[in-house]
Amino acid sequence: VIMTSSLTFEPVLERIAEEIEHTPGRGRPADYIPALAAGDPRRFGMAVAEVDGTVYGVGDWREPFSTQSVTKVFTLALDLAREGDELWAHVGREPSGNAFNSLVQLEYEDGIPRNPFINAGALVVTDRLLTRTGDAAGTLLDFLRTESGNGALDFDLEVAASETAHGDRNAALAHFMASYGNIHNPVPLLLDQYFKQCSVRASCADLALATAFLARHGVRADGSRLFTRSQAKQVNAVMLTCGTYDAAGDFAYRVGLPGKSGVGGGIVAVVPGRCTLCVWSPGLDDRGNSVAGVAALDRFTTLTGLSVF
Ligand code: GLU
Repeated sequence: VIMTSSLTFEPVLERIAEEIEHTPGRGRPADYIPALAAGDPRRFGMAVAEVDGTVYGVGDWREPFSTQSVTKVFTLALDLAREGDELWAHVGREPSGNAFNSLVQLEYEDGIPRNPFINAGALVVTDRLLTRTGDAAGTLLDFLRTESGNGALDFDLEVAASETAHGDRNAALAHFMASYGNIHNPVPLLLDQYFKQCSVRASCADLALATAFLARHGVRADGSRLFTRSQAKQVNAVMLTCGTYDAAGDFAYRVGLPGKSGVGGGIVAVVPGRCTLCVWSPGLDDRGNSVAGVAALDRFTTLTGLSVF
């Protein structure tokens, strides 16, 4: 079913949903906080947003879920748009080869995290966005509401409180980087912002639409430009190399698209110039990526022939 024309992807999505339904082994939901542990691995949704703003999907594509680390794409873009290359003096852009919440490399690299998508790097990005805007989580929420057209998007304060209650490791990362002068706001304030950021609930439809600026090379839903074409390329490149935890190599091999996953089971992916995708299914593999989500994206690029390669 190789597709190169402008036909709708709906039949492809239907076929994928059908295949996924008959695939056994859906992984297990994240269990580090109770609110995520309740996720049902049988849930599955997938949405496609075309660059013109048309969106459609299958399964639970309108069901809101905990976006978690998917939000790191948006805070990165929002901060890059404000400070440009200065950001890269404070966070790297190399895959880490370690767990997303790892502390080990920070000491060897003077408090500079390896990339913006491991927790340490995301904390640096949120800290810098907080300094520039006075409210990083609020800036993120505004952006998501505007780009998705869904003004009802919001934080899940119960999830945020649960993250705070289990937040020792993120607190350790933030304090450790602060000791190198790489965090500029009080750590409790930063953590509050970061946990609110991670707690945003949104559906596949919302997230596919909100990611579309990356398929439009930096142009927002209203036609204004968030950042340069080159910066859109930078964010897509970091997603490709670092966006799916310690499995970005396997994701690139199977899916061949820039993608960013979260422990809530969501994954966004970008076909530059063409469309964005969002899949959701709460069952994770041992690297933290949604099992059905990766499988669905793998099938999508195989069936359509669309990938960056
Ligand atoms: N709030 C989670 C944490 O910082 C995000 C985890 C994730 O989605 O990778 O541990």
